[in-house]
Amino acid sequence: MTAASTRPPLMPVNVAIFVMLPLLALVAVPWWGFSHGYDGWQWLLAVVFLYLNGLSITGGYHRLWAHRAYRARTPLKVFYALWGAGALQNSILIWASDHRRHHRHVDDDERDPYSAGRGLWFSHMGWMLRDYQTNKQEFGNAADLLSDPVVMWQHRHYLTLVLTMNIGLPLAIGWWHGDIIGCLLLIGLLRLIVNHHVTFFINSLAHFWGRRPYTETNSARDNTVLALLTYGEGYHNYHHIFQTDYRNGVRWYQWDPTKWMISTCAWLGLASNLKRVPDFKIQRALLAMQLQRARDELEKIDAAAPLRDILERELQLFAESVNRWRQLQSERYERTVGELEGALEERKKVLQEKWEHATIRTHLKELEYSLKMQRKRVDILMLQLQMQAA
Ligand SMILES: [Zn+2]
Ligand SMILES: [Zn+2]
Repeated sequence: MTAASTRPPLMPVNVAIFVMLPLLALVAVPWWGFSHGYDGWQWLLAVVFLYLNGLSITGGYHRLWAHRAYRARTPLKVFYALWGAGALQNSILIWASDHRRHHRHVDDDERDPYSAGRGLWFSHMGWMLRDYQTNKQEFGNAADLLSDPVVMWQHRHYLTLVLTMNIGLPLAIGWWHGDIIGCLLLIGLLRLIVNHHVTFFINSLAHFWGRRPYTETNSARDNTVLALLTYGEGYHNYHHIFQTDYRNGVRWYQWDPTKWMISTCAWLGLASNLKRVPDFKIQRALLAMQLQRARDELEKIDAAAPLRDILERELQLFAESVNRWRQLQSERYERTVGELEGALEERKKVLQEKWEHATIRTHLKELEYSLKMQRKRVDILMLQLQMQAA
């Protein structure tokens, strides 16, 4: 038997969507452009549709439903369900359940549905074209989604919603605009294909191309260029280590329109409980990675004793900071429990508790700062090691 014949069979509907439609777009979109032309409104609406689809996948399917990074009110959920169906990437239920398996078994070729270990093409689109074992639908990891009425409504009416959003709406706009074919091709077809590929980059390129500042335990990368294309999901190394954070670009200046949309929704009262990973944990992950790299470099070049001593001291300091942080966390936890037990009748005691809380907060801030400073020192140490290696 040849290798090709042992592959699972192709799935005709998926082949039509992911292979035939792009081929059709490649021919028909330029043909109509040259023969009739598209106007500015059509281009503008195609971009608006593109963003509404993209943000519904990243903000809705991904961060809300797959990761529960925040809570959303029903009107926002319905919005995501409609425009997410327009993105034609399966129902929320199937998408989010697959994605939870991706995180749980990342890079495991037997269990991650779009494992990067099986190659760039497989993780981009190949995984959807054939009936692979890893695509078997089972929703044991999605009990919360099975009881979400918006998720189940979208799942039940998925085909109708797909056709309405991808054909019905462009058709109506085309009729109003006076160019039905042009609108179907640009707002319907081309927009769909572009959105497919930019969101698929998150599964493919974001596991191959970029930096790994937080962890090397999986293949996910941080990549600013991809963040620009993927509505802010290019900080994938961060996302794989802190998947419940509603932000992927964690710094204020990092391009993450999805996080800006979620915080705007929170401001409007449509979203709540936005989860953020404490800054200390973020700094801790960055520093642990830097220390590991410095240690590897040290081993490689057999560095001089003073540099070894410096690294030893930094490792020691790091362990002390982490221990102190854990201690403060448990102190804070005990105080909160104490308060909930209603032990605070007297005014004096309330003030005392407030003062202690503030003191713990100050200590936590100091620890965060000391980790930031330590990262700068380890950077310098790394430079020294690299100079010695040169
Ligand atoms: Zn990933
Ligand atoms: Zn994710």
